[in-house]
Amino acid sequence: MNQATTPPPITPPGRVYLVGAGPGDPELLTLRALRLLQQCDAVVYDHLVSNAVLEFVASAAKRIYAGKRRNEHTLRQEEINALLVQLAQQGKRVVRLKGGDPFIFGRGGEEMLALAAHGIAFEVVPGVTAASGVAAYAGIPLTSRDAAQTCLFVTGHLKDGTADLDWPALVRPHQTVVIYMGLGALAQICQQMIAHGSAPDAAIAVVQDGTIATQKVVVGTLSDIAARVASAGLKSPCLTIIGDVVHMHATLAWFKQAS
Ligand code: SAH
Repeated sequence: MNQATTPPPITPPGRVYLVGAGPGDPELLTLRALRLLQQCDAVVYDHLVSNAVLEFVASAAKRIYAGKRRNEHTLRQEEINALLVQLAQQGKRVVRLKGGDPFIFGRGGEEMLALAAHGIAFEVVPGVTAASGVAAYAGIPLTSRDAAQTCLFVTGHLKDGTADLDWPALVRPHQTVVIYMGLGALAQICQQMIAHGSAPDAAIAVVQDGTIATQKVVVGTLSDIAARVASAGLKSPCLTIIGDVVHMHATLAWFKQAS
């Protein structure tokens, strides 16, 4: 009788859970995220994941910091992919923890493609993305029947320092534009919006550390926000929201922000 040539694996292959950690406040974790953090063997987490969220990780679980601060990638993307594959092949239940939602400006898709290529089982757990979490805590509804029927999420991390965004689409009326990673290019973004037809006094808010105790909201216009943000000394991570909905912040701000 023919013997099978490959012996069965000693450890059954593990699984990777790509989990959204939300924008910072751990109360915004999903129940599924919380359960997985408490039951996993290893967590590979990004720079944006708050310390308060990491406190929920099982004490026995291995914690691996993958970095991803701008210009300071602690592990390169290929190294992260290889690490996830390796941990899963050791039979571990791995949580790949990302700020916000893993499928919104989170490279979650790339990592899952790498796992799929190696036949590793995975699941995706959505998280509260910065746009919805930060807007909620800043008292800025992203849509409104009067002011905004459309909401765009765009990245302000401009390639080679040049603005290659679809400016005509961004300056349309009756919409809200949410810009992730837009702090570095804020002045340039505002200039381009005005050059493409936005009113110089259009409302804009920049929110640092949304949903956590150090949250700061700076409100202004396209022409003065860069100076206001500079004098307030805002630091990354910041989310930018442009549109008439920003006017509601004055009345709806409910979360106590750092002074
Ligand atoms: N996947 C994440 C986004 C990653 S890109 C998500 O769904 O939210 C990183 C950018 O998200 C930051 O540069 C910033 O623009 C935004 N961001 C994330 N958390 C934030 C927070 N707590 N406050 C303000 N902006 C935040």
